[in-house]
Amino acid sequence: MSSTNIPNEMLCATLPGNSTARLEKRPVPVPGHGEVLLRVKASTICGSDIRCIYREHLGKGPEGYQPGMIAGHEPCGQIVKAGPGCRRFKEGDRVIVYHISGCGVCNDCRRGYMISCTSEKFRRAYGWQRDGGMAEYLLAEEKDLVALPDSLSYADGAQVACGFGTVYEGLERIGISGNHAVLITGLGPVGLASATLVRKLGARQVIGVEFLEERINIAKGLVLDGKPLFDHVLKSGDANVAEIRALTGGFGTERTVECSANAAARATAIRATRKWGKMVMLGEGGSFSLNPSPDMLHDFKELVGSWVTSLWKMEELVERLVHWNLHPDMLITHRFPLEKVDEAYALMASGKCGKVAVCFDEELK
Ligand SMILES: [Zn+2]
Ligand SMILES: [Zn+2]
Repeated sequence: MSSTNIPNEMLCATLPGNSTARLEKRPVPVPGHGEVLLRVKASTICGSDIRCIYREHLGKGPEGYQPGMIAGHEPCGQIVKAGPGCRRFKEGDRVIVYHISGCGVCNDCRRGYMISCTSEKFRRAYGWQRDGGMAEYLLAEEKDLVALPDSLSYADGAQVACGFGTVYEGLERIGISGNHAVLITGLGPVGLASATLVRKLGARQVIGVEFLEERINIAKGLVLDGKPLFDHVLKSGDANVAEIRALTGGFGTERTVECSANAAARATAIRATRKWGKMVMLGEGGSFSLNPSPDMLHDFKELVGSWVTSLWKMEELVERLVHWNLHPDMLITHRFPLEKVDEAYALMASGKCGKVAVCFDEELK
């Protein structure tokens, strides 16, 4: 599609906070200086959309949804119009959008971590404080874009910014190699993405823990490079620490990725981590009780927190996805047209699914 046939009006969806998604018609925005207009091709739903916006508007600050904003912070699409002053990207380019537009000049933005931008005035996340990807078109800033390689689909790209990027950052913080048995607690989209990336980073054993039967079945059915993605998927329960030790020669896992945000699963995660092991916390919200001496100190364990990722790491991840022939769209279990966005959010809220995507054009298969 070229700039000559961009319509004046577009369909888009907002989240009123009463467990529905509302369809509306809005004018198609016109890109200003340093901005581009994307034809959205894929827009995936994140756990945080459900946690902070869909049922109720709960978030504050960076997680505060401005009522009436077009939802969706995991967009991927093609540039149909570039505004004046763009320096790299142009009409026709396929791009991923880093989901927070930062001020660009604070220390965090200069590190590429716009997620942590300290400017209250200029930090605006797509789908939260500025319009997001649940629309036929999206206005984005050129500085927030990452090029999408030809061998990756738009549905692959949609998951890079928030989901896979967040996981990649966390895994880089604890380091994963072929020496490691890895435990992943919580097998929603972030947990499943963790499993694919630890496999590609060489992990010798991957163990998952999950509570929901539907997610256990999805995890058990996933195959990567002709082999099951997980060596073992355990139903969450009181016996998990003993079970994980039994599966790892009595030791526990050298690396653990906590994606559930559930108190019991977090306790399992730290206790099932091997002496001298490392654990990263990615699951958002909630709390858990930790007994520092037996759980950590005496066993020399490291516990690391990680939030989203930086622009350069996103670019690095995209390059590695190509080298690894890893396609994040393998985790998408359901695709919906924008007209059925309400169904898409309801399914994601039920948890009875893998990744849920709203798709357009060639991605709607
Ligand atoms: Zn997200
Ligand atoms: Zn900033």
